[in-house]
Amino acid sequence: MQSDDDQERHEYLSACMVMIDFNDTDIAFNDKSPAEIRRAYWLFRIVGNPTLVKIGAAMLSLAMAIRFPVKWVLKPTVFRHFCGGESIAECGPVIDRLKRSGIDTILDFSAEGRATESDFEYTHQQILMTIEKAASDDAVPYAVFKPTGLVRVELLEKVQSGKRLSGKESLEIDRFYGRVNSIGERAWETGIPVMVDAEESWIQDIVDTLVEGLMMKYNTRKPLIFNTLQMYRHDRLQYLRSFTGKAREKGVYTAVKLVRGAYMEKERERAAEKGYASPIFPGKQGTDDAFDEAVLFCLEQHQDVAVCIGTHNELSCSKAVATMEELGIAADHPHVSFAQLLGMSDHISYKLAAEGYNVCKYVPYGPVTTVVPYLIRRAEENTSVGGQTGRELMLIRSRRSEGRRV
Ligand SMILES: Cc1cc2nc3c(=O)[nH]c(=O)nc-3n(C[C@H](O)[C@H](O)[C@H](O)COP(=O)(O)OP(=O)(O)OC[C@H]3O[C@@H](n4cnc5c(N)ncnc54)[C@H](O)[C@@H]3O)c2cc1C
Repeated sequence: MQSDDDQERHEYLSACMVMIDFNDTDIAFNDKSPAEIRRAYWLFRIVGNPTLVKIGAAMLSLAMAIRFPVKWVLKPTVFRHFCGGESIAECGPVIDRLKRSGIDTILDFSAEGRATESDFEYTHQQILMTIEKAASDDAVPYAVFKPTGLVRVELLEKVQSGKRLSGKESLEIDRFYGRVNSIGERAWETGIPVMVDAEESWIQDIVDTLVEGLMMKYNTRKPLIFNTLQMYRHDRLQYLRSFTGKAREKGVYTAVKLVRGAYMEKERERAAEKGYASPIFPGKQGTDDAFDEAVLFCLEQHQDVAVCIGTHNELSCSKAVATMEELGIAADHPHVSFAQLLGMSDHISYKLAAEGYNVCKYVPYGPVTTVVPYLIRRAEENTSVGGQTGRELMLIRSRRSEGRRV
């Protein structure tokens, strides 16, 4: 039997879903050719099969290790679906195409597994180039970077654990701080907001401290530096409330990208192995509730809190839309945006954009072989039964069953 609370919750959720209909495949597939929809169909069918993904990921990792050429097979398939190109210039057609449907681009240099100082410097230069690109192209409103693209993870871990650094390591960490500060400075000079991706909890404190410093310095005129909060962590709501209080006292904007979090298994395994309490909610409902609560908090405080709602979850997007309506926040309010990854959840991105909301796609780019870890993560993330792939596959199938060309 349903309790009054359950009934109320059910009615509320139904009302949210009525506000925006994400089943509209005409909008979602508007700018895709039949060949592209067929590619997406087969891709989602393959990544929806955990065994195939496991075998594929292992073979790909092996091919990378022995330097077997894989570009010829990846580039026209998975890479083309999930990435914008190998360089900023190559992303041009994707940027233009998204813009025609009212969707903006966040260029994300996604080369991973690079570990030398020259790699980090190269990534640093790429991030500065994405800021320049944004400064000259209205279709690119933000830049983004992943802190571990600029420094060794092991070094960040050592700093966070409070261990003493060698002289060489101190120089190395200073170079990292220098790179991050130069990105902040360039954001300030150009007025282009920059989002900083969130990492694993054992290095996130360092990232938080650094980003908080940049926010206090640069978020004076407008929300310029965005930290990312992973709402699968049970301490993040409190963190959001407390940081907002501190920022307000100093008269600066709080700016956050809210995500659920990408490293749940790793986090739990490490906590179990080292014998500390896992920082992650024990079940998905806890994460979902915290995510929606954080969105609500930001929307209620939108005068001086900017939020980028980074999710493929339809219900979270529907609730955000319903709350904006309820609070009288304009769809295109500059302090509220939605973001999804390229190649995923187009039915959400295209629909929200068509309704006038600020929507961005993260558009990863980089040499094919260096974005392989990113592609494997996307495939692994998409295998979950009833997850996003299932949803996208279902929408394509429904078009097929209506006799449309796909
Ligand atoms: C634009 C954008 C930017 C992103 N940036 C980052 C980033 O900087 N850092 C980062 O870590 N991730 C980032 N992500 C990935 C994100 O954290 C999620 O992994 C991904 O978006 C899936 O979550 P969801 O909200 O889309 O959808 P859903 O499919 O509703 O949620 C899946 C997520 O729920 C959580 N979850 C699942 N099962 C459980 C469980 N049993 N207990 C507790 N929690 C559970 C996990 O976080 C899982 O990823 C980004 C995603 C987007 C769209």
